[in-house]
Amino acid sequence: MSLSVRFWGTRGSVPAPGAHTLRYGGNTPCVEVRAEGEASIILDAGTGIRELGDVLNSRANGEPLSVDIFLTHTHWDHIQGLPFFSPLYKQGSCIRIWGPDSVEAPLGNVFRLLMSPAVFPVSSEEVRAKVDIGPATGAPRRTAGCDIATLAVQHPGGAVAYRVSSTREPGSSLVYVPDNELAGKDARERDRLVQFARGAGLLVHDSTYTSEEYSGRQGWGHSTFEDAVELALAAGAAHLVLFHHAPERTDVEIDALVEKARAIEKGRGSGLVITAAAEGETLVVGGD
Ligand SMILES: [Zn+2]
Ligand SMILES: [Zn+2]
Repeated sequence: MSLSVRFWGTRGSVPAPGAHTLRYGGNTPCVEVRAEGEASIILDAGTGIRELGDVLNSRANGEPLSVDIFLTHTHWDHIQGLPFFSPLYKQGSCIRIWGPDSVEAPLGNVFRLLMSPAVFPVSSEEVRAKVDIGPATGAPRRTAGCDIATLAVQHPGGAVAYRVSSTREPGSSLVYVPDNELAGKDARERDRLVQFARGAGLLVHDSTYTSEEYSGRQGWGHSTFEDAVELALAAGAAHLVLFHHAPERTDVEIDALVEKARAIEKGRGSGLVITAAAEGETLVVGGD
């Protein structure tokens, strides 16, 4: 059974709308994963989640929704769309928010802060849905036809990677690592990540920088596209999707990064497919 993966937000750090980001998109991270015939699973709640919420509401024909949102971490670009997720205000809906329990501010506090009067005009009392917040870490969680596993990655304040696999076809899997610094990892940490991403149909990985840009930005928690290619090759992934585009990166510049990434792969002859995440695009993993 295949998984369909739709990108609602691909941009890192801050929204970047404008004439030069039309093709790859300006919304911050939000990815929808659907196993055939099942409900959607949402990865991250950047500004892309606003439009997804409206689409989920219309798909439900006015019926209450039951939905799981998995946050990689609580940096602003991964949560700022949450107050605009319209299912929150729908009576009878049930929204489960999962994330790493190791983040500096516990998730519940972050949610209250997002909805506090100093930063948002709608009171949390207006939230009609039942909202449950809990840790995504520990044993893989099974929901909506998928098993969801986590791995801690290298990012200031802590973050996790997710591996989402179809329960009916475990080989159909997406590994989602939007914020992670690959350089400087020790061999054991790197090996754990390679094993976690092993054989992924789709590896969506942080590709914020070029190697020239990375010098002077060590420790900021992000990767170069070159390092993302090396990880995908080491893990034997089928398709690498460059993700978390720098806000200033234009569509034309992203095209050029994809070409450079493909040139690295060509030298290895691995067959790895490389593209860059584009807002509105749907990719299918697995199935016949
Ligand atoms: Zn980010
Ligand atoms: Zn971050």
